[in-house]
Amino acid sequence: MKVGDIGDAVFRSVETVQAKVGETLFEPTIRLGVTGLSRAGKTVFITSLITNLIENGRMPQLQAAADGAIHAAYLQPQPDDTVPRFEYEKHLASLSATPPQWPASTSNISELRLSLRVQPTGFFGALSGPKTIHLDIVDYPGEWLLDLGLLDKTYEEWVAAALARMENQTFATAFLDAVRATDASAPYDESVASSLAKGFTKYLHKARAAGFSDCTPGRFLLPGDLAGSPVLTFAPCLKPARASRKSLCRQMERRFDAYKSKVVRPFFKDHFARLDRQIVLIDVLGAIHAGPAATEDLRQSLADVLQAFRPGRNSFLASIFGGRRIDRVLFAATKADHLHHSQHGRLTAITTALLAQAKQRADFSGAQTKAMSLASVRATSEATIKHDGVALDCVQGTLEGGKEAAFYPGELPDDPARILGPAADSSDKWLDADYQIMSFLPSATARKTGAGLAHIRLDKALQFLIGDKL
Ligand code: GDP
Repeated sequence: MKVGDIGDAVFRSVETVQAKVGETLFEPTIRLGVTGLSRAGKTVFITSLITNLIENGRMPQLQAAADGAIHAAYLQPQPDDTVPRFEYEKHLASLSATPPQWPASTSNISELRLSLRVQPTGFFGALSGPKTIHLDIVDYPGEWLLDLGLLDKTYEEWVAAALARMENQTFATAFLDAVRATDASAPYDESVASSLAKGFTKYLHKARAAGFSDCTPGRFLLPGDLAGSPVLTFAPCLKPARASRKSLCRQMERRFDAYKSKVVRPFFKDHFARLDRQIVLIDVLGAIHAGPAATEDLRQSLADVLQAFRPGRNSFLASIFGGRRIDRVLFAATKADHLHHSQHGRLTAITTALLAQAKQRADFSGAQTKAMSLASVRATSEATIKHDGVALDCVQGTLEGGKEAAFYPGELPDDPARILGPAADSSDKWLDADYQIMSFLPSATARKTGAGLAHIRLDKALQFLIGDKL
């Protein structure tokens, strides 16, 4: 090889390295956060989203899919080595089983990278050839977002709010009795602290089962990998007139502070602040079915969740976001396949109204928000059935146990005020008896290998969330 050739070879290899580095540097990444309270439908949403992007068969309302601009979608190793991987294959296997089953729900943060090979549109796009866009999907429990509200509360303030809430909840009696029977000025005893913390966790589970959403601290319900650790071994206790440094009360206070600094702050800093786009899934139908108190509680919890999306108002958030922000947030009422499509507009209107007050208070300048109703995996089909001479718009599907059944869950009101807030008419019962038994399994025809999973408006949701980036 001549000296000149060596020079060329070196130059070419430098060029290749530069091209590779450039390619990776210029491969845009969108970090999409998927959250919602427990059982809102996060796992099913992500599994369906990935399948439908990979198989690209049922996404006509996602512009890039409809135009054929998405040439391929494939899974890649995720960038964060310390975050568990979203178990996509396992969840898809459940949905594709015979008979199909719902996958196991989210209980911790997890992540997955889906890379899309996309042909940019327009004259210059056509010249440039396809580019790669990475979609990093971050799944985390919405309960953890509610913990943001704890950051500017002292232990004393948190206890006062928690105990006040319990006064009106019959299922809180056992825990309240335990709190009253505990002498918080006594020297700290791990078994007393642990028994109070267990009692408090039990209470939170009961509150959740009764349809209440504001069940903080979030890690008590969904501890992730912190189950049983000291940072979760605290509970509200009554403030004694005097308490020494070694008293139970002071230790509870110390652990509450440790929870904020060692659990809540790192989650926001390491994960939340790195998101670009966010979808908040909401089981609006479940809350309406649980009754007016649960719906009102959901409204307040959503207001708390919304606080997380206005970093300007919160000095801690402002410091970790450092000027950037999540610029699109979609609020989606899930499981819309429980209703005939003629009622989806009403469900969206109720979701919008649920968010309205909180949105007025939150300063969303710069962030686009939208509300929508969707079903990540469609479990039902629609039918019109005559009952006492009246035609009813029903949904039908397979119940757990294998029986086929059609239901009429009742009609949602066209005025959201009849369900929400002070105007709610509690004598009206919405989604009552029939809704109770509508525990449909995923439909056996929902999955068509190579053509994705049947859904309602998943493509429209994705168009809002990432359409502009494709
Ligand atoms: P997560 O806790 O937010 O991860 O919730 P999951 O995704 O596990 O969903 C909880 C449950 O809601 C599932 O087991 C299903 O019973 C139901 N579900 C979720 N998505 C849908 C949907 O699109 N349609 C119907 N019919 N049910 C759904």
